Amino acid sequence: MRELKDVLQDWEAVIGLEVHTELTTLETKMFCGCKLSHDDAPNTHVCPVCLGLPGALPVPNQRAIESIVKAGLATNCQIQKRSMFYRKHYFYPDMAKNFQTTQGPVAFCMYGGLDLEVSGPGAAERPTCAFGEGEAASLASASANAEGLSRQMAESLPEYGDTPVTSEYYRESGPAAPVRHEDGSYTAPIRILRIHMEEDAAKMVHVGGQEGRIGGAAESLIDYNRCGTPLIELVTEPDLRTPEEARLFMEKLRRIFLTIGISDCSMEKGSMRCDGNVSIRRRGESSLGTKTELKNLNSFKALHDALAYEICRQAEVLEQGGVIYQETRHWEPSRKRTVVMRVKETADDYRLFPDPDLAPFDLSDEFIEHCRAELPELPDAKRERFEAEFGIKRADAEQMAGDPDTAAFFEAAAAGTSGKAAQAVANLVVNELAAYLKGAGVALGESGIAPAQVASLAKLLTSDAISSNQAHEVFEAMAKSGEDPEAIVDARGMRQVSDAGALQPIVDEVLAACADQAQQYRDGNQKVIGFLVGQCMKASRGKGNPKLFNELLRASLEG
Ligand code: ADP
Ligand code: ZN
Ligand code: MG
Repeated sequence: MRELKDVLQDWEAVIGLEVHTELTTLETKMFCGCKLSHDDAPNTHVCPVCLGLPGALPVPNQRAIESIVKAGLATNCQIQKRSMFYRKHYFYPDMAKNFQTTQGPVAFCMYGGLDLEVSGPGAAERPTCAFGEGEAASLASASANAEGLSRQMAESLPEYGDTPVTSEYYRESGPAAPVRHEDGSYTAPIRILRIHMEEDAAKMVHVGGQEGRIGGAAESLIDYNRCGTPLIELVTEPDLRTPEEARLFMEKLRRIFLTIGISDCSMEKGSMRCDGNVSIRRRGESSLGTKTELKNLNSFKALHDALAYEICRQAEVLEQGGVIYQETRHWEPSRKRTVVMRVKETADDYRLFPDPDLAPFDLSDEFIEHCRAELPELPDAKRERFEAEFGIKRADAEQMAGDPDTAAFFEAAAAGTSGKAAQAVANLVVNELAAYLKGAGVALGESGIAPAQVASLAKLLTSDAISSNQAHEVFEAMAKSGEDPEAIVDARGMRQVSDAGALQPIVDEVLAACADQAQQYRDGNQKVIGFLVGQCMKASRGKGNPKLFNELLRASLEG
């Protein structure tokens, strides 16, 4: 198979994501009062509603509706005041009532989008030739069929007569062209078709077979605790063009959902899951190719690598004169390939119809405004503010703004500072703190590290009292003991000497001992200064200020 980089020169990849997020921060299930639980004994949080017993009546969870409206507002969707729940029928023991309650043509949130900033090496995945292609004109909407059907269904329901089921402008304008920046990075607008509300099914465990598969299993166990967990599904338009863009979109979405507090968004634990739809077409072509749908993408890396593999596989098949079948494929991370799970021959018939047990919604302006008022500052806005208010690097601002706990920690530690002093705090948070938490395997909140400690450590750095190497040592000691950095520095006699009068004798000593290297410098080998600084550091037992040593050495050698 050819490499992705080569393939993307000739072919354009078209990617759309379907992202399921469990609303893990809620107390109760979607249509009953059962507690949401993950670790409790199986089948201990069940009732007639989530077990689908005859006659049981569902009651929607208002907090779940608030969560999805917040998700929609945070992703620039239009909130649909009028929508309904539908029954999607299927027969399988993971849903005892034999249908999933989900939404129909009108979802609570429709027609949104996010701007994706793509920088670094990943930006090169979109080849230069891909800019300036007339994207806007080339939209053959993937969802055009589904959309047509949706409209028919929606128009046949009198209570939706005045609901904008489709926004013609939105549909027909296609994805806007990406904007390229001077440094090679670019911003690509990615449209979101909808976010709808649904419920999760029960968890099934197949025992006695291979790898937990149902085939060959001796028995299958069902845990209905998960049945009825509120779930939101976000569907993008097929606007993503590279695996890197898909990965970044998912990361961005995760940061937003974490910030608005609707889920713990764990791809490992499965509270945030994503299916990747991908097709390819010759560059310049405007109609869409046949797509495959990828499953088992339970990390950002898996999402990227599975799409990259699949794009290359499809290119090979087409280049050899083969055809792509519309099928669902399973990503095998260990073998780094996708394998067929099932082929789609006919459209599934779920007998979708409005649930007569659940009244249609008519969300009030007050309700929507109440949700909007509860939205915290979103990651993009926070990044902009961090850059403007503290004058720190954009990449650091971006990284910290993406995690609510880290962002709050930084703000507390950097309060009242800006410029160099704030950047010192940012450096400690992004490098030392992040590395420490990762190594210790603890969350920031449980680490016991206080913003004041990091603020004090940053001050020691900016006043040149310690070097950045020493800061690493102090950080470790401070994280373990909980002591203040000042006290640690004093107790260990670490204070860096930044007094020229005290350092000059060491410089003289080193130059006398290293006459050869001194001559090399005078002969024009500037690099040897590093060696001489190292000797000075050694002679001062690590306490001299290396920057000052450098200056004093140069002055002595050049004077
Ligand atoms: P399905 O009916 O197979 O579920 P949908 O039209 O509902 O397909 O789209 C599901 C996802 O697949 C959406 O994210 C959409 O953007 C994406 N998609 C649809 N058609 C294509 C295509 N030809 N290539 C890539 N992605 C596509
Ligand atoms: Zn229940
Ligand atoms: Mg679909």
